[in-house]
Amino acid sequence: MEKMIYSSTRSNNEPRTASYVIMNGIAPDGGLYIPNEIPKLEKADVLALSEMSYHERAAKILSMFLTDYTYEELLTAATDSYSEERFKGGAAPISKLGESGKYMLELWHGPTSAFKDMALQIMPRLLSMAIEKSGTDKEALILVATSGDTGKAALEGYADVDRVRISVFYPSDGVSNIQKMQMVTQKGKNVCVSGVKGNFDHCQTAVKQVFSNEEIRNKIAEENLFFSSANSINWGRLAPQIVYYVSSYCDLLKEKEITYGEEVNVCVPTGNFGNILAAYIAKLMGIPFAKLICASNSNKILYDFFETGVYDRRREFYTTISPSMDILISSNLERLLSMVAGNENCEKWMKELFENGIFTVPDEVRKTLSKDFKGFFADEAQTQNTIKRYFDEFGYLIDPHTAVALHATDTYMSETGDTKKTIVVSTASPYKFSGAVLEALGYEIPADDFEALERLQSISGTNIPENLYSLKSAEKRFNAVIEKEEIPDKVLEFSKNKDCGLN
Ligand SMILES: *Cc1c(COP(=O)(O)O)cnc(C)c1O
Repeated sequence: MEKMIYSSTRSNNEPRTASYVIMNGIAPDGGLYIPNEIPKLEKADVLALSEMSYHERAAKILSMFLTDYTYEELLTAATDSYSEERFKGGAAPISKLGESGKYMLELWHGPTSAFKDMALQIMPRLLSMAIEKSGTDKEALILVATSGDTGKAALEGYADVDRVRISVFYPSDGVSNIQKMQMVTQKGKNVCVSGVKGNFDHCQTAVKQVFSNEEIRNKIAEENLFFSSANSINWGRLAPQIVYYVSSYCDLLKEKEITYGEEVNVCVPTGNFGNILAAYIAKLMGIPFAKLICASNSNKILYDFFETGVYDRRREFYTTISPSMDILISSNLERLLSMVAGNENCEKWMKELFENGIFTVPDEVRKTLSKDFKGFFADEAQTQNTIKRYFDEFGYLIDPHTAVALHATDTYMSETGDTKKTIVVSTASPYKFSGAVLEALGYEIPADDFEALERLQSISGTNIPENLYSLKSAEKRFNAVIEKEEIPDKVLEFSKNKDCGLN
């Protein structure tokens, strides 16, 4: 197979290998790495993939992008990552919602009950192999800014992995109680967790600045460390996400819900734009996806962008019941922009966004984008109504993020009259947000989180995921809540002291 080359979305076009970009995360010019070309899946390939298991599909698709890994390496990594033990009930199963034409792609059967596990179980293995291939004697220091789910999924994936340590920053008031507990109870000798006063964008901006700060990079190099990222700015996060989109189409084929070539829509509850970008790449590979419906909550900056071509972050920030989508800077949009409008334009817009908080794409770019993408949003009441409506109508329990997507799907279908089948991406277990789900169903929210889990279990007749229930007896390890200005010091301290100041 031909070698896949990666380069930055901005001016620096130095060609890099997949293992290099997985090790290094963000490009030195501040851009994100993208492949110079998208490999294609022909009909015969898709039909062959349909007969394979999830981990075989993963190995095949990843091998098309990660060409400096062998197929055997990728198959081993995928087999371990997506085992029945880690993903109870399968890695990315589909639930058909009656004859509604909607198919729920459930991405939350992994060890932290959120879709981030789909990438973050395999990415540590890809990173370990990349470090080995590079021949360096250094260790990776992973920095993560999280709006909730990434933090825990990354901690779970990287804990006690050789030659890696991980420091996670979460907005102290921007995540659910359960999410906070999942993180502050994390076990492992190489992990550090800090709450930050502020919102997710504050965390993400500060972490990005640490990444590109020459002085800090040099200081941690003295400790024999280099920075790497687990956020969806890292290509190692995105590549495994392409897999489940291809796989979902294969499953519909295999179940004879569709025949090859039939177009289906895809609706993705979107925050940082990583998940939906993976759907777009699957489409470019040749999977017959029609519209990619980009669902936002009240932070509807992407909806406004697709409608008007203006990306304006100078707006009120809302804290919602779908906190993993409370985002005003959707980093992965940069990848889309560079793919459709070129690096020069992309760099200019990113500079404008950084300096003025706003950029505008020309009408022709907006029109090109609207061939593939359509934005919708759900406010809080619409999100709650959707949770109740789907539970009443189908007995199907969803979390608030998934509800945003289902509301968007229904709005799209009624506004356009498009009756194509739709894959609706379900990104979290409802148990991860039990308070909000109970309230939407018309119940009071119990003061105690575990009581909320139990109540939801008795109402829905489904089981509380073990990883959430076991938090009840887990020891809280990380109490620090810091100012965002203290993030660089926290990173330097951790580079010197692997136990994160716990002893
Ligand atoms: C991260 C997350 C999202 C948003 O995904 P992006 O790739 O950032 O767009 C949606 N729902 C849940 C539950 C998430 O954890």
